[in-house]
Amino acid sequence: MTRLPRARPALLALPLALLCACPPPNVPPPPAEVVVRPAGEASRWFAADIDAGRALELVDFLDRRFREPGNAPYRESLDELESRLRGAGFGTDDRLLLERWTLDEDATTWEPLSASLEVVAPEPELLQSFSPADDRQRTMLLIGSPGTSGPLEVDLVEDGEADPKGCAVLADGMPEGEYRRLADAGAAVALFAADARLEGRVSDDEAIPFGNVAAGDWGPVALRLSRSTERRLRELLHKGEPVVLRVGASVLRERGPVEMLHAEIRGGPLPGILFAAHLDEPGAEDNASGVAVAAALAELFGRGIHEGGAPAPNRSFHFVVGPEIDHAEEAADRLRDTLGWAVALDQVGRPRGPESSRHPTRALVERAPDPSQRWRADIGPGSGWLAGGDSGEATWSRAEPSLLADVLVVLLREAGGGWESHPFEGGSDHVPFLAAGIPSALVWRFPDPTYHTSLDRIGPSVVSQDDLAEVGRGCASVIASLGWEDGATVARAAAAPWAARVDILAMLTPGAEAACAWSRWLEQAADELESMLGTACAASPATAAALAEVLGAATRLGDECLRSTIGSGRGGRRGGGA
Ligand SMILES: [Zn+2]
Repeated sequence: MTRLPRARPALLALPLALLCACPPPNVPPPPAEVVVRPAGEASRWFAADIDAGRALELVDFLDRRFREPGNAPYRESLDELESRLRGAGFGTDDRLLLERWTLDEDATTWEPLSASLEVVAPEPELLQSFSPADDRQRTMLLIGSPGTSGPLEVDLVEDGEADPKGCAVLADGMPEGEYRRLADAGAAVALFAADARLEGRVSDDEAIPFGNVAAGDWGPVALRLSRSTERRLRELLHKGEPVVLRVGASVLRERGPVEMLHAEIRGGPLPGILFAAHLDEPGAEDNASGVAVAAALAELFGRGIHEGGAPAPNRSFHFVVGPEIDHAEEAADRLRDTLGWAVALDQVGRPRGPESSRHPTRALVERAPDPSQRWRADIGPGSGWLAGGDSGEATWSRAEPSLLADVLVVLLREAGGGWESHPFEGGSDHVPFLAAGIPSALVWRFPDPTYHTSLDRIGPSVVSQDDLAEVGRGCASVIASLGWEDGATVARAAAAPWAARVDILAMLTPGAEAACAWSRWLEQAADELESMLGTACAASPATAAALAEVLGAATRLGDECLRSTIGSGRGGRRGGGA
């Protein structure tokens, strides 16, 4: 993983200063010098909280739109975001950049408009339908499915039990894998079961999970059934009478660009911080919630600069919104040389618990690959997202050690309790930044019984205003501390878990490997934190004290490594790693 060595602040300021001699009109003002202010000083210009009520309104706006990259609901959503950010000064104030990046000039976009599935024979019965497009059962049309040119009446058959040609097939297997087979066999309609999905069983008999089919320009209409609809159809089939269905589906395919939004609070020479939230997918929690918090953070700090007299920060803050993974890859590519940290906000509004449930929702920060892959100590267990329970990766050497995840856990806990981190699993917008060598973490809430289904719609049990506010407050304290203060709040958060964590690791037997791996990791992570803070901030007494605590923990672990290595008679090598 090659990455440009981090330029020292003094070095970076020089060439830009030269540039300012005769700047063209739209060049941004030169970055400010690093100004070291004590913790809490940022409250002169910024509230500690995002406007969570306004964020929830945005969730409501996005919830009513089935956002697929580049389709009309997606474009409307991007327009709404843009107008909100413009309202906070982005794109009008030259300290607040607002731009669109085009990911695909000419994509085929897809939008579900309406659909219905009825039994005609033996007895008329409406099973599933949605119209208009924001209706609850809108996920019954699998993404990419062709529509029908008027209602289709077809016989129902079970997969493999009869010739599927011209019929509606109750398919075995997942849409992603089986659709093409049924298309080639000439099926007219492909019906897929609710539980036939990578995410595992749905939590409710009425839940209709969304999914994708690679239909291209032709193929059967592809519908997803709820468990109760599938059960009803099998009941009818097993009665032995012919079952005739009427299917209607209306979709809009267009050609057009796929864009993403980039907003930047321009700041000084310290490494930048980025918040990413994917806009696509139809969920309120996944991920209108993350988009709403990212927009609210940008508004909070943008408005403070545009209207509140706040000075430029010591580093730039970036907010990007677009298609999952693709927009993060684009941002990592464009900003890799100036970014220090990246945070993915994905599913951040669901209330924790309930404790009574078998799988209560946890408030989580996903770590980058680190020794917690093997020795978790006080770090929480996997999220349950990965079927096998963990990533199965026992190596972390390709990820830059960073205390970002610990910082987020501590400051989110201060904002509202119960947050924990868990080992790396992947699968969201933090991954492209890791691949680009930029330390990143994922802030999310999981497990989620509505995950990727028709149940993921706005409502207090799905996305709560208080939980959006909590994530906003935790992230805002990172931005305030590293943007306008001496970073002490962040450094203290970084140091906080280590005293207890070292004790736990020291009790592991045999402890050598764990202590060696973690001490080597922590030494490098402390360096990374120091360069994130910048020399000026790192020198401020409160920040320096916290940094010393981190280094102290690394030394204790190093001693433990040595002691256990000698104890196990394996002599000399300190700070093992994988
Ligand atoms: Zn998501």
